[in-house]
Amino acid sequence: MPKSYLETHLDANGFFGKYGGSFIPPVLEKPFADITQAYAELKNSPKFISDLKYVRKHYQGRPTPISYAKNLTEHCGGAKIYLKREDLNHTGAHKLNHCMAEVILAKHLGKKKVIAETGAGQHGVALATAAAYFGLECEIHMGEVDIIKEHPNVVRMKILGAKVIPATHGLKTLKEAVDSAFESYVPQADEAIYCIGSVVGPHPFPMMVRDFQSVIGFEAKEQFLEHEENLPDNIIACVGGGSNAMGIFSAFIDDKEVALYGVEPMGRGDKLGDHAATLTYGSEGVMHGFNSIMLKDANGEPAPVYSIGSGIDYPSVGPEHAYLKETGRTQIGLSNDEEAVDAFYKLSQLEGIIPALESAHAVAFAMKLAKTLPKDKTILVNLSGRGDKDIDFVIENYPIPNAKF
Ligand SMILES: *Cc1c(COP(=O)(O)O)cnc(C)c1O
Repeated sequence: MPKSYLETHLDANGFFGKYGGSFIPPVLEKPFADITQAYAELKNSPKFISDLKYVRKHYQGRPTPISYAKNLTEHCGGAKIYLKREDLNHTGAHKLNHCMAEVILAKHLGKKKVIAETGAGQHGVALATAAAYFGLECEIHMGEVDIIKEHPNVVRMKILGAKVIPATHGLKTLKEAVDSAFESYVPQADEAIYCIGSVVGPHPFPMMVRDFQSVIGFEAKEQFLEHEENLPDNIIACVGGGSNAMGIFSAFIDDKEVALYGVEPMGRGDKLGDHAATLTYGSEGVMHGFNSIMLKDANGEPAPVYSIGSGIDYPSVGPEHAYLKETGRTQIGLSNDEEAVDAFYKLSQLEGIIPALESAHAVAFAMKLAKTLPKDKTILVNLSGRGDKDIDFVIENYPIPNAKF
């Protein structure tokens, strides 16, 4: 039997084609080699697999369902739209899927503390949750701008016992939070582990986080057959770093008849600084320890980025996304702020589901795609998270539309 895509990707040095790898200062080489080795051992350990299955079922609330969005489908008048409900995962987004596993790995390595960055606060909340459950200390770095915008998640992290450290340089959002977390990690690498929040960073994180998130795709593959007795024709997920997208894509990469769309945020326009559509407008470059496609300014440094979705405004992207786009296996969709807010309200009022603004980008693209397709076609959207964290921001900036569209 030919080997599956997941068995053959990535190579021994941590590359997907030319993307990925590990570009880190010498002091971090040993800690990252330890993590790589620990993961190689744990990956096939029956105890690790059963521990993870246990927490997923009895603590996180997996499997999350797939819901048919009947009213939204009728509203769009084309292909049938289904939602994989990661908003129902404990803590309200897909992030806990890799956080629980990363913290089990941290314990296996004898670490006492986990450190991470967070954008919208979802990764911070998920990691603080996993740290509380497994009894480790937790330190979260967050841009000052996001601290104000995502206030409820900051409070949650603190209640869960985490220390929240503001990133005060540059644009004070996600990229700066990563810079700040790395800086803090270097002198603490003996007792702490950096738990990256997406399929980004140096090897082995892009592979490890993908593997931990692949539970979304493998569940979805079985569940979708219950609804349609067939695989979905199209799968759509928003892409920040790309973990929820890799999570749902990974189970379908060998199924060539399934079209895979990663949706990037167009923010408020196509000028550099107004969006975070990295794969669409970026070029090859190394940042945060890995080679990928990146948005650069005139000096080749990471460009300023913007999106209404705080979890998707990142100037690089997971190396596997760069690879899959280049090979033609995935396609890129685009949604801007306005379309995301429209989808936010439509999903709320037509389906009773308030989506995260990040996820609303995927819903918005699904609505556009559905309209171009016949009624017997299907679309599965990965609804990466719920929108409770965004309600104050949305209501202050965008009036509630008339319930009848
Ligand atoms: C963090 C986050 C994202 C973006 O991260 P990916 O790694 O691209 O998945 C998307 N949606 C939600 C709800 C998030 O919390």
